[in-house]
Amino acid sequence: MLSLALDKIDSLNIVYLFAAVLFIFGLKMLSQIKTAAQGNLISALGMLIAVTTTFFLINQGEQSSIVSLIWIAVAIAIGVVAGLWLALTVPMTGMPQMVALLNGFGGIASLLVACGDYLIHGGYVYPAEDLVARNWHELLAIGLATLIGGVTFTGSIVAFGKLQGVKWAPDQPVQFTGQKALIGLMLLGSLLLSFYLIATPDSWLSLLVVTALALALGILLVIGIGGADMPVVIALLNSYSGLAAAMAGFVLNNPVLIITGSLVGASGLILTSIMCKAMNRSLMNVLFGGVGGTVSGGTTVQGEHRESSIEDAAIVMEAAQQVIIVPGYGMAVAQAQHAVKELAEELDRRGVTVRYAIHPVAGRMPGHMNVLLAEAGVPYDQLLDLDQSNPEFEQTDVALVIGANDVTNPAARHDQASPIYGMPILDVDKARQVFVIKRSMNPGFAGIQNELYFTDNCGMVFGDAKKVVAELTTELGGI
Ligand code: NDP
Repeated sequence: MLSLALDKIDSLNIVYLFAAVLFIFGLKMLSQIKTAAQGNLISALGMLIAVTTTFFLINQGEQSSIVSLIWIAVAIAIGVVAGLWLALTVPMTGMPQMVALLNGFGGIASLLVACGDYLIHGGYVYPAEDLVARNWHELLAIGLATLIGGVTFTGSIVAFGKLQGVKWAPDQPVQFTGQKALIGLMLLGSLLLSFYLIATPDSWLSLLVVTALALALGILLVIGIGGADMPVVIALLNSYSGLAAAMAGFVLNNPVLIITGSLVGASGLILTSIMCKAMNRSLMNVLFGGVGGTVSGGTTVQGEHRESSIEDAAIVMEAAQQVIIVPGYGMAVAQAQHAVKELAEELDRRGVTVRYAIHPVAGRMPGHMNVLLAEAGVPYDQLLDLDQSNPEFEQTDVALVIGANDVTNPAARHDQASPIYGMPILDVDKARQVFVIKRSMNPGFAGIQNELYFTDNCGMVFGDAKKVVAELTTELGGI
């Protein structure tokens, strides 16, 4: 009997290990644009294998008595309908909010798994004597999954609200005297209580207090951060949701949950660090600096901007040898990526070399521009990252900036009073001629005016990005 059970566990672990290897390969492939779509599929296959195996285990194993297959089927059906509806209806510009919600769901799922397990083994659902007692590290994992899951849930809901612009989650950082001390005390208290759970394996009150503290902590931590920093906060909460899942994995003794949770935790942290670096900010400054919302600062920009017509821009681009397109958040808002590709093809037909310069924080989430351009079918070899693009601008005839603002502001290089000082930018001002497509002189995400618009070699082409780009293509076709 024992050897049979061991055989089952061994083969189960081998399948889990295989799923984990697929996740790791998938993640590795996601780091390259060319292989990202395949990486996504490979990871999804890993997830399918892990879920099916776990389902099989539940159906066969000791837990079959406490898990109803009907409830699982109902939950899968609700998840599939909700997931499909979100995938089909949420616009590309709403992705950061959606990721925030999904992180939040991950957090609350881990919290519920941990609380459910604690209550079951505490004798609240089935007689305690029928169940194997929890050991100390499982009880500690229950506390930590509840704590991290709770913080992730309410923090993500506040982040969602700030990005969605709802009234109950103001864009401005909400800070008050003693906030940091209160956060510190609550964190310490909930950590101590998590350890206390080891001594009280059947006290629902201790767990309730940890849950309440965690939920309140999530709100307090995120409400003090401005809307402008929400994408970084979301990357961090993504990492928390992974850690909470890993803890839930320890609670359930499920190796694949521990591995996937750790992968999400680590990759979320790496992404957070990349985003902070790309904005030249520290994580502490993002979390407690109270920066964000409507940011202002920097030297007031002097001078007049010059407006250019679509005809002017078309004539100059037609005569160019090298054009670099610089997309930003406005391209996403206008959904102009397909029009941009058509413009590039028209230029290509006229012998103009076209490439795209992608800033790591252009748009509102990491890889935002890559996703949009890939969706439009732009060849990967035309995409240049920040380090590849900057040496190119001096040899470039035209830099065509489409709905990008902060990531092209030269003030980041020299104006120490500017909120974006030190952020690496795309040096578009070094190109011979710059055209900027946007609707007005309104500032971008950082809330500051862009020096670029007042330089001699810059022409502003006002209008919605999709409309202007389509008109530019038509105009070029007529030359
Ligand atoms: P910005 O937010 O600086 O500027 C976008 C510009 O697009 C605006 O100035 C706006 O001007 C224009 N725009 C909006 N809608 C349209 C439209 N329909 N047609 C044409 N133009 C339009 O964007 P960037 O991409 O340059 O910079 C990203 C900013 O986001 C940076 O400050 C970055 O730090 C921040 N950020 C990004 C993160 C990420 O992961 N990507 C994470 C955290 C922060 P107008 O209204 O006049 O049209």
